Amino acid sequence: MNKGKLYIVATPIGNLADLTFRAKEILESTDLVACEDTRHTGILLSHYKIDTPKLSFHSHSGQAKVDKIMVYLQGGKDVALVSDAGTPGISDPGYVLIQAALETGIEIIPIPGPSAVITALCASGLPTDKFLYLGFLPVKKGRQTIFKKIAESEYTVVFYESPHRLRKTLEQLSEFLSVNARVVVAKELTKFYENYYRGTLSEVLAKIPEKPKGEYVVMVIP
Ligand code: SAM
Repeated sequence: MNKGKLYIVATPIGNLADLTFRAKEILESTDLVACEDTRHTGILLSHYKIDTPKLSFHSHSGQAKVDKIMVYLQGGKDVALVSDAGTPGISDPGYVLIQAALETGIEIIPIPGPSAVITALCASGLPTDKFLYLGFLPVKKGRQTIFKKIAESEYTVVFYESPHRLRKTLEQLSEFLSVNARVVVAKELTKFYENYYRGTLSEVLAKIPEKPKGEYVVMVIP
């Protein structure tokens, strides 16, 4: 029996119209959609009138869920992996399942589309020919080390940050960066409150609200 295929499908990061034609076709034709949050992905699927069965698969799912998806794939069923937003595997679940699929010879097919890191960078105005992506910074241990690495980078550094840690991270970073370092913070990309804050660290901090809300990508060229 032929094995199924594992599709890694990028989905919108805020604007439902950003689903690609190919992603829509795959989500319609696949046997199963493995998603972080079935209700969240349900909004996207119902917007496009797609009624493919869903199965939850998130960072705490564990080996049993990986095994379950592998049974589908081994049994000839196609599976589309999506995350809540953006590209699966990019600071999102995917790695363990992709490893398991590779070990058993399952074909893995990426369906490209939105990702917050690329969306933020492309309009940042910072150099994008080379960049260093750090995902989420450590919350407790290792922050000083990573701040030093950011300050020493030859390339634009990009990372994700939660709204309630944004100001603290920028303030701590200011102890490591030169005053000339350029910073761009992208907020709520593709959404109603989309905004870019650009300048030196102190200029950017002055523009960001005291209690930020929404989703953020931080970019720095030391
Ligand atoms: N896999 C996703 C991708 O490809 O972009 C990233 C998932 S990660 C768990 C979620 C983080 O991405 C958010 O906390 C935020 O930092 C960033 N992010 C996602 N959507 C965003 C948006 N619309 N605007 C700004 N940042 C966003």
